[in-house]
Amino acid sequence: MDFMKISKYNVFIPYSNALFIYNTLWNTVFVIKKDKVKIWGIEYIQKYEIPPIDANAINVLKEKKIIIPDHIDELNLIQEKLSRAKLDESRYTMIIVPILKCNFRCWYCYENHEHKRMMSANDLEKIELLVYKIIQTKNNLKTFDIQFFGGEPMIGYNKIVKPTLIFLKPILDAAKIKMTVGITTNGYFFYKGESVFFA
Ligand code: SF4
Repeated sequence: MDFMKISKYNVFIPYSNALFIYNTLWNTVFVIKKDKVKIWGIEYIQKYEIPPIDANAINVLKEKKIIIPDHIDELNLIQEKLSRAKLDESRYTMIIVPILKCNFRCWYCYENHEHKRMMSANDLEKIELLVYKIIQTKNNLKTFDIQFFGGEPMIGYNKIVKPTLIFLKPILDAAKIKMTVGITTNGYFFYKGESVFFA
């Protein structure tokens, strides 16, 4: 008989008349109506206990990795993933923080919004030089991943985000390196319909 346990990486997100369970390690989503929460034994899952529900329901939760076999060491899986990422010479990720300031004040935010200075044109030049150096020294580089973070990076869209993408794209194209772009944003400026360009 397989012993089972509850994954440590389930996040419970109530929304409207549903409950979303997102597993951040396995990248799975399970959605149930709120009036079915008790039937599915969600209160047990939240206490890391296997719920007293029938085998079919348990199998659904297993498929969604909300419940996993006891022998799986999830922390070890994450460490292995990190080690593989560190050794992967084909990908480079650069995180750019245009500004720490934010137009929101979320209660859970850990950022210190005191530093209001935007990155400067001088900082952009340094990024450009760094990218050249990375391209020259990393022979197996296939993907250059740029992540904009903050504060709210879209405050620096015109001064930093857009110019960075405009100067990086041709450099990476010439070196036949794929560029991928991500931005961690509260979405306000997208919602406002301000023009957005991702090269
Ligand atoms: S949107 Fe992000 S950076 Fe801004 S206050 Fe909220 S959590 Fe912090």
